[in-house]
Amino acid sequence: MKCPFCGAPDTRVIDSRPADDNSSIRRRRQCELCGRRFTTYEKIETMPLMIIKKDNSREPYSREKLEAGILHSCHKRPVSAEQIREIVDGIENALYNREENEIPSSVIGEMVMDRLKNLDPVAYVRFASVYREFKDVDTFMSELSKLREQSRSKTEN
Ligand SMILES: [Zn+2]
Repeated sequence: MKCPFCGAPDTRVIDSRPADDNSSIRRRRQCELCGRRFTTYEKIETMPLMIIKKDNSREPYSREKLEAGILHSCHKRPVSAEQIREIVDGIENALYNREENEIPSSVIGEMVMDRLKNLDPVAYVRFASVYREFKDVDTFMSELSKLREQSRSKTEN
């Protein structure tokens, strides 16, 4: 494994231990050249997951893409990188537990919206407006008022 700091080709494993409920191995590595340490995670390779897009074309599932979409919705909102990572981890687990090779992008979109709804209303509406392609202000407003009613009944209970 190449050193991420100096690019030296040889790094040494100094510690290995199970992580994430034994679904991965966490390794501490040290660079032979600069002496700096970093961590890698080894995961079992699962079947490639394909996403069925709206136009029915397929593309490989990308964690980066999912993360970027959520990050974008949470711009300048009080949501931490850790919370976003948890959302993505939760969605990935749910996706792999479906044990299907192909999953419609709408399923993932709903999963994101479910989670954002509980986390931050503004991030939720931002994501939903991109995702559901709100065609006009009315659709957007009705979604907003639905959200308000829900949070109102939550506080009442
Ligand atoms: Zn190094």
